[in-house]
Amino acid sequence: PEVPARTAELLTRREAVLSASYRLFYREPVEVVRAEGAWLYDSAGRPHLDMYNNVPAIGHSHPAVTEAVTRQLGRLNTHTRYLTEGILDYSEALLETFPAALDQVTYACSGSEAVDLAVRMARFATGREGIIISAHAYHGTTALAASLSPSLGVNNSVAEAVATVDMRPGMDVETLAAKVRSAAVDLEARGHGVAAVIFDSIFSSDGVLPDPVGGLAAAADVARAFGGCVIADEVQPGFGRTGTMWGFSRHGVEPDLVVLGKPMGNGMPISAVVSRREISDAFGASVRYFNTFGGSPVCIAAAQGVLDVITASLLPRHAEQLGQVLADGLAVRAGHTALLQDVRAAGLFVGVDTPGADTAAAIVNGLRERRVLISASGPGADVLKIRPPLVFDEAEAEVFFAALDDTLEDLEPS
Ligand code: PMP
Repeated sequence: PEVPARTAELLTRREAVLSASYRLFYREPVEVVRAEGAWLYDSAGRPHLDMYNNVPAIGHSHPAVTEAVTRQLGRLNTHTRYLTEGILDYSEALLETFPAALDQVTYACSGSEAVDLAVRMARFATGREGIIISAHAYHGTTALAASLSPSLGVNNSVAEAVATVDMRPGMDVETLAAKVRSAAVDLEARGHGVAAVIFDSIFSSDGVLPDPVGGLAAAADVARAFGGCVIADEVQPGFGRTGTMWGFSRHGVEPDLVVLGKPMGNGMPISAVVSRREISDAFGASVRYFNTFGGSPVCIAAAQGVLDVITASLLPRHAEQLGQVLADGLAVRAGHTALLQDVRAAGLFVGVDTPGADTAAAIVNGLRERRVLISASGPGADVLKIRPPLVFDEAEAEVFFAALDDTLEDLEPS
């Protein structure tokens, strides 16, 4: 497609130096130069409504983070083999938000590293290898996390000691539990046993599946009956996004290990594994874990700023309320056009089925032309994925609906 000269030039330079693994969003990619709140600004100064980024949870360029990071960077930034107080203040505050039995934390820099570490801990603690994942899971980029990420593509080999559970919209709790049981039986038959089940409670890459509520509690019971651990990957649903501070509590399940990432530092690289003491003690007594940048004072300062804002502004509740505004408005429109089908939401994590990948791409690109940024996901790339920063407000929801109505009218004139 025809793109502006500036965009064409950047694309040419990008192609020359960046490896072939990268993928850009949108038929006409957006060059962004700054951001604030839920808005990204392009090189011509035009605002684009960001309804996709789940990292800047408290809003882009939030002063609570900018100021904390700047102050700390000018004072000290080193690793965790010295005594520093900030990491203790933050860890105590973070663990306050978890069930009492989850009382230990280990820091890393990315969700992938934290997934990798949580799986290693589970394998170490159980003495077993097998991992149960969802059929279109994404858990990250390290060799281990990528082997638990079938959504990466057909050539991504899923590890040998892995069994998958095919998640479907509308599935009930009993069906989910039965599928987890057959995955566990399969892993035992193959001689791996069950070390853990790992789930993203919003099943983002499986097509955004907030239901069945309670399904993960049933899945956890099954995994535990086979001697396995329960790992909650909260990289997507965590820190209030799905209307509760942690996605696992929406399902009424108490995990053994929890993986945190993305919004934790509002863009600064910080992630963590929160664990039951007996699991991380068993691992830590034998294995040294040192992550050079993990939990550095500057990233901790960012994370403290994020946690303070989430708590003080009651952002989980806000996400629940605004998510309802989005879901209701989308459901009304789905009643009037065949281009939008099932609407699924938990807080500010919204998925909308479309008739197919082409329709989803047409809506995503139509919105992008109107400077509203969303994306599509799911095994068939046919599910609209809408996930604005948690500070998203009603006026911004109106901007979205106006752009959506215009896009739908364009695609299917009434
Ligand atoms: N788990 C889930 C559920 C994710 O969505 C992601 C990132 N998209 C990761 C893990 C990996 O996180 P990171 O990109 O920070 O390594």
